[in-house]
Amino acid sequence: MRYILISLFSLSLLACQYRNKPNINASNHSFSNYNEVKVNHLNLFLDVKFGKKEIWGTATLKIRNEAKAHQIILDTKGLSIDHVAAGAKNKLTETTFTLGPEDSILGRALIIPITDSTTEVSVAYHTLPASEALQWLSPEQTHDKKHPFLFSQSEAILARSWIPLMDVPAHRFTYEATVKVPKELMALMSATNPTVRNDSGLYHFRQERPIPSYLIALAVGDVGFKPLGRNTGVYAETGFLDSCAWELQSMQAMVDSAEALYGPYAWGRYDLLVLPPSFPFGGMENPCLTFATPTIIAGDRSLVSLVAHELAHSWSGNLVTTATWNDFWLNEGFTVYFEQRIMEKVYGQKYAEMLAALGRGELDLTLKELMADPARRADTRLRLNLDGRNPDDGMSDIAYEKGRFFLRHLEQTTGRRDWDRFLKNYFSDLAFKSTTTSLFLDKLNKELLMTPELHQKADVRTWVYGEGLPAYATPVVSEELERVNADLAMSRRGFTAMLNHMKPETYTTHHWLHFLRNLHTSIDAKGMKVLDDRFHFTQSGNAEIQCDWYQLAIKHQYKPAYPALEQFLKKVGRRKFLMPLYKALIQTPEGKKWALDIFRQARSGYHSVSANSVEELLQH
Ligand SMILES: [Zn+2]
Repeated sequence: MRYILISLFSLSLLACQYRNKPNINASNHSFSNYNEVKVNHLNLFLDVKFGKKEIWGTATLKIRNEAKAHQIILDTKGLSIDHVAAGAKNKLTETTFTLGPEDSILGRALIIPITDSTTEVSVAYHTLPASEALQWLSPEQTHDKKHPFLFSQSEAILARSWIPLMDVPAHRFTYEATVKVPKELMALMSATNPTVRNDSGLYHFRQERPIPSYLIALAVGDVGFKPLGRNTGVYAETGFLDSCAWELQSMQAMVDSAEALYGPYAWGRYDLLVLPPSFPFGGMENPCLTFATPTIIAGDRSLVSLVAHELAHSWSGNLVTTATWNDFWLNEGFTVYFEQRIMEKVYGQKYAEMLAALGRGELDLTLKELMADPARRADTRLRLNLDGRNPDDGMSDIAYEKGRFFLRHLEQTTGRRDWDRFLKNYFSDLAFKSTTTSLFLDKLNKELLMTPELHQKADVRTWVYGEGLPAYATPVVSEELERVNADLAMSRRGFTAMLNHMKPETYTTHHWLHFLRNLHTSIDAKGMKVLDDRFHFTQSGNAEIQCDWYQLAIKHQYKPAYPALEQFLKKVGRRKFLMPLYKALIQTPEGKKWALDIFRQARSGYHSVSANSVEELLQH
């Protein structure tokens, strides 16, 4: 009843709002006035209701009204705001609020009047089915199939869809939370975490280090914990926990190697949660607790570079954070570079170079596609202009791989010793701060590129503001992949010659990926059958190999793989796999019909991040 009354009240305020046309500018993909009012701390109470698929919450923000502003503006999207209070600590009184007009990307501004003496603002709210960050899974969609599961994905601008806050990466705050969940489930957050389930169903969390909003995360499920090392461990559904712990055995070595490279790990524990297969990304670097896709649990420890990537974000991204989504490459390019350095330290240079060569292959494909489209050529610059667009548009190989190769180029230009010293200082000088491309370049010019020769050789402006890759950025030569190239060259003499030449027992997942991506173009469905009979790609349990093989199957109409392909698309929700497969399917009218049919059935199992991307693709 209270909700209805307050909503009616807020509607009348809204009408008033339109008449007065207040000046609420969205800049940096946020309505919030973070330049006027600082949020220092967020205190959350969340009641997770699986029956209704809703979270009922109260978000209390401790603020500092530095600019003596008359209002605090928060971001919301798909939330129902129930009531709002403001005042000083323990003296909050209910106040009015206004919701701005809906923007399809940014959501709605929540405007709350404040005074010079306001130090706390509290918002009672509940999530709606449209709360895009949250994915509610039925027991059938989990590994153990016994209990439901909930997880959040806040990056880039979806934190506002489950918490009203200043959703902008340039602003940081600490948080604490009390989360109420069904007694048979455990809650985990990007904070200090429990390791055992308790009987009250109440869990308390603290994140004492200031973080940007996109790093707030919640997962609720029937999960258990296994320690892996000094400050590392893994969470997974109980029936999957042992396999995950076996696969991730090198996690502690990775943390130790990362610390040796670029300074102390700043977040206390580094744990990883393996989620059900609908998780839309490979991993998400939620502080203290990386969220990861189960597709990295390949059974042979071959896909753990993803852990190195998410761990590296503990420095690049979580410690030193991009201030705007236009500078997203500062989070991801640095992280891919750092990931490679960790992999080199733990697994050796040959292995790391193989990963870099595969990364370069992926970058070349993305560049080819973007450069061919005049409307998207500008998206091949490291520094983007995403104003008016969804920041997810910037999540391409450009930020990740072009960013990595730019930093590799800087390392090669300045020498590893000086470069490493610079990078270590960069992380310690800017710890718990935001950064921008120009800030990074200023620092680079002042501290590393100190001679005209180095400055000229570094060619920074071409890399950052230019389209494509500089002509001198030659492909990476990987000794391991050269071995695969030699096998592939034999295919010109026929498949039998190639098969006789190969030593498949020495191939890792990465060798296979290179093999599949460079198979002679003349391969047909008959050749596919020969390969499948020999190597059983269709039935592979390795999602990376499955994704590449099924793309070939679609291209060459190799029908024996179709049932497995359909099953894969219905089970796995990782966008990286869904997009190329759906893209391959829609090349023909009958493929498109099939793709639409699969999507119709699979959609409810995808997170909104994946579902929206696939939907957009299928509409064209
Ligand atoms: Zn990343």
